[in-house]
Amino acid sequence: MSATVQHPQSLHELAPGLALARGGPGRTLNIYLLGTVVLDSGVRWSRRRLGRQLAGRRITAHVLTHAHFDHAGSSAWLCETFGVPLWCGAGDAAAIGTGRVDTLGTPWVNRLQRTLLPVTAHPVTRTLREGDLVSGFEVLEVPGHSRGALAFWRERDRVLVCGDVLANFGLHPRRPRLVLAPAALSSDYEQNRRSAARLAKLRPRLACFGHGFAFTDPGRFAAAVDQLGSGSS
Ligand SMILES: [Zn+2]
Repeated sequence: MSATVQHPQSLHELAPGLALARGGPGRTLNIYLLGTVVLDSGVRWSRRRLGRQLAGRRITAHVLTHAHFDHAGSSAWLCETFGVPLWCGAGDAAAIGTGRVDTLGTPWVNRLQRTLLPVTAHPVTRTLREGDLVSGFEVLEVPGHSRGALAFWRERDRVLVCGDVLANFGLHPRRPRLVLAPAALSSDYEQNRRSAARLAKLRPRLACFGHGFAFTDPGRFAAAVDQLGSGSS
């Protein structure tokens, strides 16, 4: 494992065995450590920031919630730098394995994204399935935002990491604004809504997102998911 800087930044401990790293300013690009497993890697320019936060730490694997450019952008770098395997949901393995990561719906926008924010191809050595365990978290298959989207659930203290099934666009922790990704950014919008409803039923005490502040009130989380409109805003 390489430690690239002399002054590693501390991570934010959210719960036992769960820490937040940052792939961008504030909570724009959340990266999590489940024990020694790094979950997501931000965009391709997250690597320097992520390298500072992970320097000197023992890392054993890298997992994706889903293979989009803002979650897998530094994944090849991370796996090569730390010498760890890449795992993801079966439905997203081809995308990251080939670097043909579609995020934004229309072909021309996808081409633009691949030009401006390319994702380096990296082989997936393990595809995760419903019920698999990663550092004590149970894998949930929650397709809809992408075909192979995954969430991670720890029942004993009701901790959930959602990926982008939902995001919190609230700019303050006390003023949450839960959103579903629009249809143009989803492989199947209605399927993603069903995945969100499934997660709300878990009534997590801590719900963490790929973007934004965590929710710490299970009732408020369930109510916010309930209130999400049926349109594709
Ligand atoms: Zn995202």
